[in-house]
Amino acid sequence: MRALWFEDVGQLIWREVEDLVVTHPLEAIVRPVASTTCDLDRAIVHGLVPLGNGFPIGHECVAEVLEVGSAVHRVAVGDLVVVPWHISCGVCPPCRKALPTACTTVPGLQGYGASIAGDWGGLFSEQARVPYADAMLTRLPPGVEPAAAASVSDNLTDAFVCVTRGLSRHPGARVLVVSSLPSLGLFAVDQAMAAGPGRSTTSIGAVGAGMWPKPWAPMWGLKWTPVPNICNTRSSSAPPATVGFCVRLCCVWRPAGTCPTRGCSLLIPRCRCGRCTSET
Ligand SMILES: [Zn+2]
Ligand SMILES: [Zn+2]
Repeated sequence: MRALWFEDVGQLIWREVEDLVVTHPLEAIVRPVASTTCDLDRAIVHGLVPLGNGFPIGHECVAEVLEVGSAVHRVAVGDLVVVPWHISCGVCPPCRKALPTACTTVPGLQGYGASIAGDWGGLFSEQARVPYADAMLTRLPPGVEPAAAASVSDNLTDAFVCVTRGLSRHPGARVLVVSSLPSLGLFAVDQAMAAGPGRSTTSIGAVGAGMWPKPWAPMWGLKWTPVPNICNTRSSSAPPATVGFCVRLCCVWRPAGTCPTRGCSLLIPRCRCGRCTSET
């Protein structure tokens, strides 16, 4: 099968690698049918994050199940499934609390398409191994196009959690979406509009070079506001009634991999700068 590799800055190549087969009863082998880019993929390709090079890229897709192990019961060959970016076992204490990114069986944010921890392949490849198929895979509901759900693996879900978790604590609150990155920002605005507060109480802002919302704002009927520093949003830029959602990208986006406010490290599950409000 072919796998799309991030070879070096600005270079993606297809490599021929061995076909995958099930090697454990809990596994499934899947074939991505709709893959899409995370904001992180663009940062990787441009050399803006310190993840090295020479690895298969891609961590968002809907896939068809090709083969399942003998202990897999929730999905079957031929099913269309969302493949989450993160590897999780489904049975450790954090997984049982619905916190799969804190899985203790595969610690360290192990996932597809990045050389952070473990080697799980990429989801632009023609096949991928899912080590805990029953825990990780979610069948696509009938009538949902795979391409429309490809980002459920990561960005769409991240935006959903950031917006709906805050609104569940502050029903009807004004929502300020602050993001330097377009994919997560667009999804967050969509979620805010759909979750209830709507156009009259949703604002969008951009950080640093993130000019992405400006052309979109008129289409949404939203106000666009430049925001100089995401970590100052809560304390200085946001009106008191605004709930600010940091999508932890203040840490990820820095080329040095550190938060500009407190120097917290790259890709931690929760920003520790003390000013962001994200819990993802
Ligand atoms: Zn991602
Ligand atoms: Zn686990």
